[in-house]
Amino acid sequence: MRLWPALILIVSLTLTACATPVADGRLRVIATTGPIGDIAQAIGGERVALRTLLGPGIDPHTYVATESDLFALQEARLILYNGLHLEAGLARVFDAINQSNYALAVPVAEAVPAELLLHWEDGDKTYDPHVWHDPLRWRYAVEAARDALITVDPAGSAIYRQRSEQYLAALQALDAELRVLIARIPPERRILVTAHDAFQYFGQAYGFRVEAVQGISTASEASATDIRALTELVVSQRIPAIFVETSVSPRTIEAVQSAARAAGHEVRVGGELFSDSLGDPDGPAGTYFGMMRHNVQTIVAALAPSAANAVQGAAMTSECTIE
Ligand SMILES: [Zn+2]
Repeated sequence: MRLWPALILIVSLTLTACATPVADGRLRVIATTGPIGDIAQAIGGERVALRTLLGPGIDPHTYVATESDLFALQEARLILYNGLHLEAGLARVFDAINQSNYALAVPVAEAVPAELLLHWEDGDKTYDPHVWHDPLRWRYAVEAARDALITVDPAGSAIYRQRSEQYLAALQALDAELRVLIARIPPERRILVTAHDAFQYFGQAYGFRVEAVQGISTASEASATDIRALTELVVSQRIPAIFVETSVSPRTIEAVQSAARAAGHEVRVGGELFSDSLGDPDGPAGTYFGMMRHNVQTIVAALAPSAANAVQGAAMTSECTIE
């Protein structure tokens, strides 16, 4: 369904107000992305009937609402979305919902203070939406989700506050845990090359230089110039591994790998990172915390000096000393 008919549908449906925002006594809540759904489920618990629109492998930048989504949105009392132009194809639907006053649509990542947000490009007024890759910045989204739940369901206020405190404490613990893992990568090896530019907040939090073939949105095509520039970086820095993403085609990263090989440098694909969606619900990356651990474990396994590399490095150092 195209966006324009979708808008007409959502507006007309909300105006008729025939929906039931409560399912089996539970509050109907929609989250757009997996990380937001994780918050909503953890804080809302059995008080909410949650539906997460964007499942594993779905790219939020280019996502357009389906007819089924629109009916679900029409039945919801609360919609939690990322904002900062992440769900670019859904923005007008959320605006229409808020204008209807029938449901509340809240962009949780826009609760992050402006001084903690990164710009899309230097001098640009648009912000990078991939805030969830820094657990400490993501706390603001948790607080925004908690406040939104309290607004639509004040009777659950005490529970929402208690559960959000637990979630915030878990984010702090996750950050500390990830720092221990990342400490295994020497600072000079912390160069993260990915398909699209989703990891700048991660990079700033954990001391990585982050470079990507595509920009912050996957809506823009990668050019031959982008691939050439990335290849030059990979070859000149002797980067051992680069990464594909579950919600982005591996084609561009494979092109960089081939070009680096042609230039005499063998770079591995270090694994698959979850940039913009979680993994299968039953898998290890099916939760926000599991996804973050998977990403960091994958990055550490590929970029930390292995025992073999360490031996090789020591041999090279001794050769240099003899010379
Ligand atoms: Zn993205």
